[in-house]
Amino acid sequence: MSTGKINITTENIFPIIKKFLYSDHEIFLRELLSNAVDATQKLKTLASAGDFKGEMGDLTIVIKADKEAKTLTFSDKGIGMTGEEIQKYIAELAFSGAEEFVEKYKDKANAIIGHFGLGFYSAFMVSKQVEIVSKSYAEGTKAARWICDGSPEYTLEEAEKEERGTDIILHIADDSLDFLEDQKINDLLSKYSKFLAIPVAFGEETDWKDGKEEKTGKLKIVNNTNPSWTKKPADLKDEDYNNFYRELYPMSFEDPLFHIHLNVDYPFNLTGILYFPRLKKNIEVQKNKIQLYSNQVFVTDSVEGIVPEFLTLLHGVIDSPDIPLNVSRSYLQSDQNVKKISTHINKKVSDRLKQIYKDSREEFEKKWDDLKIFIQYGMLSNEKFYEKAVDFCLFKNTEGKVFSFEEYREVVKVNQTDKNENVVYLYTTNPAEQYTFIQDAKDKGYDVLLMDGQLDSHFIHHLESKLEKTQFRRVDAEIANKLIQKDEVEESKLTKEQKDELIPVFRSQLPVVNNYTVMFEGMSESAQPMIITQSEFMRRMKEMSELGGGGMGFYGDLPESYNLVVNANHPLIHSVMKSKDQAVGEEIKNIEAEIIPLESDKADLEKLKEGKKADEIDQVEKDKLEEVEKKLRELKDKKEGVLNDYGKQNKVVKQLIDLALLANGMLKGEELTKFVKRSVELIEK
Ligand code: ADP
Repeated sequence: MSTGKINITTENIFPIIKKFLYSDHEIFLRELLSNAVDATQKLKTLASAGDFKGEMGDLTIVIKADKEAKTLTFSDKGIGMTGEEIQKYIAELAFSGAEEFVEKYKDKANAIIGHFGLGFYSAFMVSKQVEIVSKSYAEGTKAARWICDGSPEYTLEEAEKEERGTDIILHIADDSLDFLEDQKINDLLSKYSKFLAIPVAFGEETDWKDGKEEKTGKLKIVNNTNPSWTKKPADLKDEDYNNFYRELYPMSFEDPLFHIHLNVDYPFNLTGILYFPRLKKNIEVQKNKIQLYSNQVFVTDSVEGIVPEFLTLLHGVIDSPDIPLNVSRSYLQSDQNVKKISTHINKKVSDRLKQIYKDSREEFEKKWDDLKIFIQYGMLSNEKFYEKAVDFCLFKNTEGKVFSFEEYREVVKVNQTDKNENVVYLYTTNPAEQYTFIQDAKDKGYDVLLMDGQLDSHFIHHLESKLEKTQFRRVDAEIANKLIQKDEVEESKLTKEQKDELIPVFRSQLPVVNNYTVMFEGMSESAQPMIITQSEFMRRMKEMSELGGGGMGFYGDLPESYNLVVNANHPLIHSVMKSKDQAVGEEIKNIEAEIIPLESDKADLEKLKEGKKADEIDQVEKDKLEEVEKKLRELKDKKEGVLNDYGKQNKVVKQLIDLALLANGMLKGEELTKFVKRSVELIEK
């Protein structure tokens, strides 16, 4: 037996290892298993090169937990190590590697993905003592035992071991005893070793016999050494891909929409299978993340920075030995290989979508509702993807018909081009609430797109900046006649004076007066008497600020702003005007009679002021003008007051406004109940 002292500067690095990787103690399992896999694969390589001529035997890696002895043992039948090799690889090289690792990452443990590189020494995160018993494949060598308790001192001695390979025996520390529980080990195995290339066994296979579960004495293999991504696409059917999806995500009950099999060997090595999940309308927090592997060893399931952001919505596996694993995330993002991989995956995904679109458009259309949000997200966040996706992105209209961008333009071009040569795409965000507007637009021969998705408002904005001479307008942004501005104008049968007198009458009954602008349009007599619209611009600003667009707070604080558009040609409006004239016409005339001479006085006084500087004007004249202006204001207020009072008690006005609100789904609660009552009263009359 010999003892040795590990030649390092830090007296005791294990407490440091333990501390700074505290949350990730479990990775020791992956590290030890991947060493065992490496050692086994090295043996296979030697055998196929003819350098190892012995019997390989069963190469299964066996894990055993002994609760009494408090040990967890990893046994492999790989190349093994001689005493000198343990001395060299474990005590000297690996130890200095571990020290270097600690030095480098002390301050940024979280930045490391996978924590590769710590290797063998991660065993000390859960052990008070680690023992290696190993026998090399090389003929004539003796087995060796190495024991170390975490201080730089260790012992190395000859040992009894018949079989080739290595046993790593962890004497589990008192604060880590949970790592001896079957459940815990099984969980970790399914996380880290599900697809390792060499069989791994833990526990015994059981069978159900006469209603009882019985052990069979056979080792239970916990991994699939040949996962689908390592196979040739030609050897796999759709069903195999779906089965593999369930193997990856046992808690998923829905089949994915499509899959993409990645297989690159130049200029980098990459295999994998990506799946398009059914996303429906919402980008939910992703449960099923893309898993990253390096030669079938699980590394991480946070692939941000490795694939373009929008592709993190996909599910599946990427396996590449070329992704550097023991580096920080920011380094990873600037790594050339990683960039190439990211670009490649991006291209693959868009190519595959295009291919499905071209080869089986019907299938593509059927799955559109599930694909839409993914494709829109990609187009919004990734220019390269946008360029490809314009060819297969679809629009759906309110009748459920789908069109490619190109097709849609052809459909609406003739009828929906405005006087400035812009093609106006009409859309609805809520077909039930905007029903009347949709119908009005359709009556004019317009098509209406359904844009009720989570990303649609962003997407519309984006498309306007991309598609030439194209504008989007929600159907309720204007009355149908004005949705698409053409040269023809319909005559209004009301004079300016008549309109001015009607405005206070209508305003008197508006729910929140300041949120509305009353305006008149010459529409057909059969159109609605009043319509409430919401300016496209203001609505979008509010929406954007609500979605958290930077610096838009100002718009977000603004009240809702609507237009009450009055059909100047509707008989009911004319009858409101008549009854107003009957009721208050005389009074208004009298006020007008007082206003007219004052207006002319005012004009005269203002003329006197013309061409004079402020100090040249006579004080008497100044006072006079002020006096006249004050009187005029009072009279005008009085006139407005009369019209306002009249409007307030006019049930028809109230009814017309409520009908317009109702058509927009804006009449609710108490107001709705009152409306119903009033309607009954009006019918009874
Ligand atoms: P790495 O695996 O990154 O080289 P480790 O600290 O995990 O670093 O291991 C150091 C070395 O010890 C390995 O490169 C290998 O030569 C040797 N080794 C570790 N585990 C085994 C094993 N189970 N069988 C044979 N050799 C091993």
